[in-house]
Amino acid sequence: MLTRAAALEEIAGQSFEVVVIGGGITGAGVAFDAASRGYSVALLERGDYAVGTSSRSSKMIHGGLRYLQNFDLGLVREALLERQLMAQLAPHLVYPTPFLVPSFAEERRDRKLGMGLNMYDVMATTRVGRSRREMRSSKQEDEDFYWSPDRHRTIDRDEVLELVPSLEPRDPNDAYLFYDCQTDDVRLVLTILGEAERFGAVMLNGAEVTEVLSRDGRAVGVAAVEADSGERFEVEAGSVVNATGVWADRIGAEVADEEDVPRISPSRGTHVLLDRDDLSTGSAACIVPAGEGRHIFALPWYGRTLIGTTDNDYDGDIDHPRPGQDDVEYLLDAVNAFFGVSVGDSDLVGAYAGVRPLLSTGDPKKSVDISRKAELYETSSGLLTITGGKLTTWRRMAKQTVDRLVEREGREAPCHTAELPLGREAHPEELDAPDGVGEEAVAQLAFRYGYAARVVLQLARENPKLSAPIVAGRPDLLAEVVIAARREQARCVADVLLRRTRLGLLAAPQLRDAGAVRTVAELLGKELGWSRKQVKREAEAWPAAAEKAGIDPAAAAGGAARLAG
Ligand SMILES: Cc1cc2nc3c(=O)[nH]c(=O)nc-3n(C[C@H](O)[C@H](O)[C@H](O)COP(=O)(O)OP(=O)(O)OC[C@H]3O[C@@H](n4cnc5c(N)ncnc54)[C@H](O)[C@@H]3O)c2cc1C
Repeated sequence: MLTRAAALEEIAGQSFEVVVIGGGITGAGVAFDAASRGYSVALLERGDYAVGTSSRSSKMIHGGLRYLQNFDLGLVREALLERQLMAQLAPHLVYPTPFLVPSFAEERRDRKLGMGLNMYDVMATTRVGRSRREMRSSKQEDEDFYWSPDRHRTIDRDEVLELVPSLEPRDPNDAYLFYDCQTDDVRLVLTILGEAERFGAVMLNGAEVTEVLSRDGRAVGVAAVEADSGERFEVEAGSVVNATGVWADRIGAEVADEEDVPRISPSRGTHVLLDRDDLSTGSAACIVPAGEGRHIFALPWYGRTLIGTTDNDYDGDIDHPRPGQDDVEYLLDAVNAFFGVSVGDSDLVGAYAGVRPLLSTGDPKKSVDISRKAELYETSSGLLTITGGKLTTWRRMAKQTVDRLVEREGREAPCHTAELPLGREAHPEELDAPDGVGEEAVAQLAFRYGYAARVVLQLARENPKLSAPIVAGRPDLLAEVVIAARREQARCVADVLLRRTRLGLLAAPQLRDAGAVRTVAELLGKELGWSRKQVKREAEAWPAAAEKAGIDPAAAAGGAARLAG
């Protein structure tokens, strides 16, 4: 990615065919799709890339088994096809995980769930609705291109315990096993932005759009404010796309009538993370009953156990959603009962909350039942707003938006994103690591950066100090801090700890004070030209940022920092 200074120079006062507002997964997808169809594109992000909902998801690329209950078949089918594509286009970053639904004691296997899983299997196939001849002629092509998970099956007690040994005290009878995919949501956004840039898009974070500019009733650009200087600049645009998720109804009031803009009905979801010594799901994920017919997940993620999520209407501050105390208790109660353990707040290594950009239907039903469908709105000014949807379906949302641009301009510009790889895959064994960089770090780099992991390793080789971990016991390297500033527009300690690495969520107790992040601030300062005073200020700003995001519930509960990682 260009540096911020270079990006600002390319964007401010210039003219583009498309300006995208918002650097979450949706905005990144639109920028990538439009740029790869030949449009000149600029993207402006108010805070940091993925700072909104796109860094706060459950990190699953999935069909969404539970939406089958609502008979949202179109959405599930669409998401399952996207899941297959993502695993194919970004194999280093989107990986299948076995999911278990165990049964215990007198419980009988849930036949309704079995039927649902059958549907899930059928809907995941790329061959639904095709004639035999079509299937035969495209078989070869399909099998080469589409990753496809195994069908669901029932596994016996021994296999359950092989996958999830911690279930032994519960003495499971058997389990349904099916597959879904996992990822790192922020790295997916950054990877898509990287691809957009390869096709010529320019993006800038720390650039808040304050106004949609209009001429003769048409949206013709935006005005924005650059965060460091506070300076206002304008960008001219043939088309303006609002991809601001849960903020979508705050953009463009100056060029739209009330009824033209979507109404967002936010819903908060909380997640907590535990050390695997306290609770491990082994090599699988578990679906955990949470009362009143609800379910949550316990997932292996970055060597921790990720537990989520809740789903409740939310009328608090959408800029800084924090995990709700009730939600944390609800999640912990569910896993304590399911695994027969007793973990509490003070054991948590991290927590976060996100707000879903659900579209208000005017229906008084709770958010769990509101569809995750995406909607594209077009006002008479030509401003396009795309919101709703899921992390998984970003490509479809982007295609829908850019198809509309193409249609209204009468262009010949088909979408290519179903064939364009996202980053370049790298296998850990192909990466040459300098002394001091262990296997776990190399595997994590290959997952996170793909082929570009070589650049991180090269830095660590040139400067052995950078091959040290950012947090003792975790595989993230100091070299990644330098890369974040040099190539990923990181602007502060929180950008590095919450969104380039995910250490703030995985090791919050070890990052409680300014002293713990001093080296991160120094490395950033060296790259970004900070004075000694500013380095100190930036390190001191971290504990407040962590507190605001509520990532360390163990601190409030008096939990000790885990030094072993
Ligand atoms: C708890 C939870 C769990 C989820 N789990 C999953 C899951 O496992 N799988 C899945 O597929 N989906 C999941 N989702 C849904 C998914 O995360 C979201 O649909 C998706 O991330 C929304 O992305 P977005 O780009 O539309 O919004 P955002 O990521 O919120 O991006 C909008 C961006 O616009 C920026 N912005 C706002 N105003 C301005 C302005 N004036 N100028 C410039 N920029 C601006 C914001 O800073 C923000 O970065 C989950 C959602 C939640 C809340």
